[in-house]
Amino acid sequence: MSSVGVARVYRGTFAHSTRDSALRVLTDFVLGVNEQGKIAFFEEGQNVESLSHQWGFDTSDIEQLGSHEFFIPGMVDTHIHASQYIFSGTHLDLPLLDWLKTYTFPVELCYEDLDFAKDAYTKVVRRTLSNGTTTACYFATIHTDASLLLGRIADDFGQRALIGKVCMDRNSMVPDYKELTEGCKDETDRFVHELLKKKYALVKPVVTPRFAISCSSSLLSNLGKIAKNYDLHIQSHISENKHEVQFVKELFPDCTSYTDVYVKHGLLTDKTVMAHGCYLTDEELKIFHERGAAVSHCPNSNISLISGMLNVRNVLKHKVKLGLGTDVAGGYSSSMLDAIRRAVDTSKALCMQDAQLQPLSYKEAFRLATLGGSEVLSLDDCIGNFAVGKDFDALRVNLCVPGSPVDLFPGDDPEVILEKFLNLGDDRNIVEVYVAGKQVVPFPDSY
Ligand SMILES: [Zn+2]
Repeated sequence: MSSVGVARVYRGTFAHSTRDSALRVLTDFVLGVNEQGKIAFFEEGQNVESLSHQWGFDTSDIEQLGSHEFFIPGMVDTHIHASQYIFSGTHLDLPLLDWLKTYTFPVELCYEDLDFAKDAYTKVVRRTLSNGTTTACYFATIHTDASLLLGRIADDFGQRALIGKVCMDRNSMVPDYKELTEGCKDETDRFVHELLKKKYALVKPVVTPRFAISCSSSLLSNLGKIAKNYDLHIQSHISENKHEVQFVKELFPDCTSYTDVYVKHGLLTDKTVMAHGCYLTDEELKIFHERGAAVSHCPNSNISLISGMLNVRNVLKHKVKLGLGTDVAGGYSSSMLDAIRRAVDTSKALCMQDAQLQPLSYKEAFRLATLGGSEVLSLDDCIGNFAVGKDFDALRVNLCVPGSPVDLFPGDDPEVILEKFLNLGDDRNIVEVYVAGKQVVPFPDSY
């Protein structure tokens, strides 16, 4: 294209969420991506002539989407354990604490081996990108070098990612899988320092105490200081399972609640994302709101590990930032489409118990998977929808690809087509994935 400033222009249907609307389906819009990968303009198709003059592109260079195609924003997985991907789809027969002891900790120990880590991390980054996860907030393991490797692989593939080296200095379940308090602090420092030094454009570190049960008070305080010193994101788990909540009460008798444990150690900030929160009280949700901390709702995991059912309506009522997570491998699917479906299912199950509740609509779940996730990770100034000035993180969806799992019929309008994709589609329909304007799926031949 001979234009100056605009690298690509698309015309067709775009669907996204805005601050005021869970879903806006915009037919015959034109979107320009500039050479920095940002959205230069996003306007009605009738403005195309004036846009072409303003931005200096030739209208014959516009890429026209088919009637069965549309763009949606890239999906944001706010909670996924990259290290557990190797057993996703299996080991779903135990509740959380037994599951960690029997399956998870023994597998995570293997990541000391960098060849093992490279194979697993390459596969999880490829799979999540193919499924349309343009941004992932990853837990790795306690191993610094393998965690740095996950950062490099995400950068190589062009995925936007927060990478967490897991921190834990307490583990009565599998005593070999933990660090000494001082060593964990030093290794976290090294991890943060080395990852930042790489200057990856889209990959950043996130301070990652596994959860209160596996961290001493001293370690939690040190991690709070590291997050503050480097102004970093923080991620952990909270109130996932009733036994876990009880255990935390016993371990931290001076704290008034599970939330208070993280508050007291400087770990509940406006850059914190806590997974689950099924049993958070209204008081705790108020604290989340006051501090600007976020919740990652992981419905597949919550059902698979028989943990609980988050009342999303109540979280939203408290104006707490909320997104969706796959929580691989407690959640058996690495696809955010599954997270959308399970979020709606869970809300309907709650409605069966309480007729006063309103179920989540597919539109609301779509918002949580895109704009909501960007808010959770405090990235909503740069991703989450197609606002001008944001990075072009986007999925090109085509429901008429060979072998498509979705059938269309005369009269299926763009909104129906989107709803069918969200409920029935899969990675076969996600024909192109863009992160910061760069096409990352299909993968280059070298990958
Ligand atoms: Zn988790």
